[in-house]
Amino acid sequence: MLRWSQTLLNTLREAPQDAEIVSHKLMIRAGMMRKLAGGLYTYLPLGMRALRKIEAIVREEMDRAGAQETLFPILQPAEIWKQTGRWETMGPGMFRVRDRKEAWYVLAPTAEEAFTQLAKSEISSYRQLPRTIYQLQDKFRDEIRPRFGLIRGKEFIMKDAYSFDADDAGADRSYKAMYDAYVRIFARVGLKAKPVEADTGDIGGNFSHEFMVFAASGEDGILDCQACGYAANQERAERKAARVPYQTEAGAAEPVATPGQHACEEVARFLGRPVDQVVKSLVVTIGGKPVMALVPGDREVSLTKLRRIIGGGAVAEADAETVAQVAGPVGSIGPVGVTIPVYADRSLEGAADVVVGANREGFHLTHVSLARDAKIAAYVDLATVRAGDCCPKCGKPLEIRRGTEVGQCFKLGTKYSAAMGANFLDETGQPKPIVMGCYGIGVSRTLQAVVEQSNDADGIIWPAAVSPCQVALLLLDPGDPEVTAKAETLANALEARGIDVFLDDREERPGVKFKDADLIGLPVRVVAGAKGLAKGGFEIRRRTEKESAIVPPEAAADAIAALLK
Ligand code: ATP
Ligand code: MG
Repeated sequence: MLRWSQTLLNTLREAPQDAEIVSHKLMIRAGMMRKLAGGLYTYLPLGMRALRKIEAIVREEMDRAGAQETLFPILQPAEIWKQTGRWETMGPGMFRVRDRKEAWYVLAPTAEEAFTQLAKSEISSYRQLPRTIYQLQDKFRDEIRPRFGLIRGKEFIMKDAYSFDADDAGADRSYKAMYDAYVRIFARVGLKAKPVEADTGDIGGNFSHEFMVFAASGEDGILDCQACGYAANQERAERKAARVPYQTEAGAAEPVATPGQHACEEVARFLGRPVDQVVKSLVVTIGGKPVMALVPGDREVSLTKLRRIIGGGAVAEADAETVAQVAGPVGSIGPVGVTIPVYADRSLEGAADVVVGANREGFHLTHVSLARDAKIAAYVDLATVRAGDCCPKCGKPLEIRRGTEVGQCFKLGTKYSAAMGANFLDETGQPKPIVMGCYGIGVSRTLQAVVEQSNDADGIIWPAAVSPCQVALLLLDPGDPEVTAKAETLANALEARGIDVFLDDREERPGVKFKDADLIGLPVRVVAGAKGLAKGGFEIRRRTEKESAIVPPEAAADAIAALLK
């Protein structure tokens, strides 16, 4: 039993200025956490209890899926990060520190290198595979914009797991086991999280799912199909291209003057053509090498998709000088006559009679047939997808929703094992790189995401499985020995059944206790007052209900247990 009179707990009427979203406000107001500095939060006793419950669920499900817990140092030597090249590619998002001998270290933002290093030293034979190991450990990231409390911190708690397999099929099985564990974890903590297809980003690898919590404040866009369940991060979402809206034949390409017209919309208006018949051309450098990307004029080029298709390093829009060298002046470029590789969006395959830039200031070409007049290296999925586009699986219209990622699974393949020489000997004695996967859950982010999803105007509504305590017992007359004794008896009976109780035994007015109980949001509220007990018993209700039931003391524990089921 937790007694308020002995707990470090202060509730606040007002949320701090920097709290923009409801969960951040409530976590502070309900005394679950406090800010030490931007992106750095201290968990207070009640918040800590909720965190511990989430961690326990994560551990149980990881163990059940066959993963084994370990604990790695947060402080990691620069050398292992140099072996995979991430000492450079992680950029300023990684905290780097020096010891007194001037040796460099990293405050781990993630731990692929350290786990791969361990596999390299411990695993030498196919007989030792598969293995999945995990840890719950603090991670550090110098986020560009730490905000929303625990949602985007500079320091946060992550569950990170890594699987090691002998082959691809094994890696797929390990991935599936973690994916299924994630589904169970989020269901058990009371969070609606949807797995969506994701890009593999800086971590690299073959495929990936993000577990997304839908929220207006989410920083990710997700294309979601209500009809068939398909969901994908905007960075990688695909679409079923509608019937080609283009002519399939064209007369000879012809330059036309388009003075001062640069954006596709401007050119379309000027020439009296629909904007999707003007082709948008973009020069992009991938690992320093320029390529041209083409999409219909009303679309954007997805750099993420381009990088995934072409591979080979960092991707960026080329600067004006490069564009002028390989094509023409920015705003007037097109694929006809260029010698760099040209990739066109799939929807442009077969397109004829389109408008493209003429690589000459103030001119465009009309009646262009891409197949006839340009050299297209490949037709690939390049365009960003938007709401209303057709689902690639079932063809129904896609919706766009905002979301926050609470977990992610990656199939890594051999990217890290090959870079670090983590090999094993197969049945025939051949050395082979271990096939890996990695799997993260933002544990502290999950804690706050639960609150973001479950609250009302009065405060938090904790799901029972992760609530700091399950029952708020409000002792209205702490000075009355008889009422106090009855409340204590009930609390002990509940604790004996494994139901944890938070006793509000402060010398405060009932109104204050009611307000605080709603704000803190434990799932069941029990009022022990002289008046109520004289009338027949405890007043019991769920946090979500308005009316209490009066239950005689001897029946109260059963009634409360039933409400918590
Ligand atoms: P995001 O896209 O939200 O920045 P990420 O893709 O960079 O997240 P991962 O590298 O996949 O994150 O890390 C695994 C998990 O750690 C994420 O699913 C997320 O829940 C959590 N996480 C990542 N960054 C933060 C952060 N700054 N604060 C709190 N949790 C975080
Ligand atoms: Mg991620």
